[in-house]
Amino acid sequence: MDRRIREALAEEYRAQRERNAAEEARRREEVRARVPQAARLMDARQAMIERFCRQALTDESFVTPEAELRKANAGIRAALAAAGYPEDYLEPVARCPKCMDTGVMDGDVRRECDCYRQRALELSSAVTDGTQSFEAFNAQVFPETVPEGLTITQRKAMLLLKNYFEKYADSFPAQQPRDLLLYGKSGLGKTYLLSCIARRLQERGYRAELVSAYDVIRIMRDAYFGREDDTARLYDADLLLIDDLGMEPMMENITIEQLFQLINARRSRGLAMVFSTNLNTEEIKRRYNERIASRLFDHTLCQVVELLGQDVRQRPRPEA
Ligand SMILES: [Zn+2]
Repeated sequence: MDRRIREALAEEYRAQRERNAAEEARRREEVRARVPQAARLMDARQAMIERFCRQALTDESFVTPEAELRKANAGIRAALAAAGYPEDYLEPVARCPKCMDTGVMDGDVRRECDCYRQRALELSSAVTDGTQSFEAFNAQVFPETVPEGLTITQRKAMLLLKNYFEKYADSFPAQQPRDLLLYGKSGLGKTYLLSCIARRLQERGYRAELVSAYDVIRIMRDAYFGREDDTARLYDADLLLIDDLGMEPMMENITIEQLFQLINARRSRGLAMVFSTNLNTEEIKRRYNERIASRLFDHTLCQVVELLGQDVRQRPRPEA
């Protein structure tokens, strides 16, 4: 396996374990604040564990009374369930329960977990395949004409944008503002630019997910209806790139609610997002609502970039 991929994965798994620990701590705090009965039992268990530790230090023949520990744990689980929480709410959190996000089985570095091999495969295809990269960016496909609304040629404008996005990807996660919204008609290179950013971040070891808005809603809907829960991809990626906002199916208020929730959840954790859309401000307000529009077009949080010019997919490619 490529050393870069190994390093990227080590970093990804480390970051995941950190998020798990933060989530565990958050849950403990939440339970302490909301379920006093569980909080009392947690304190009692903590005191018991400390007592066992002291005893073990002074008495070599001391054997930890596992039954007492199990009883204490069962009490906490019951208190959680009685308060409407899942019984295992305070159990260790992991994306992969098989390896607990260590990437290896039973701590044995020679036995890679399936999830690790899967991620390595995804990463290597993202890093080495595909032609959409800043390196492969070819400004020649953009015409040397000045589009309405611009004072420079479309080609020159794309080069400037490419440099801007490359800087964004290279300075990630320090870039300001954190989010990007790319809008313009179809065929101006939005998806291409998103792919370049995603690829550069993956090369730098970040978890960047490029997903169409259509798939975002599909993934959330599958989770909502309990079919398959792949939402961690959307919620936890270091950078989430949503392509073609506005092309997803609308289902009453669910689509809007889910989108709103996703944007808010990521913003509150300081996780960046990049959007591309054919819709302008007014159309976004109309399709979604004021709340979503104000989040997308908040200039302190989101850099809005408009692409102007003609569809390069309908333009004959220059001779190679
Ligand atoms: Zn695993």
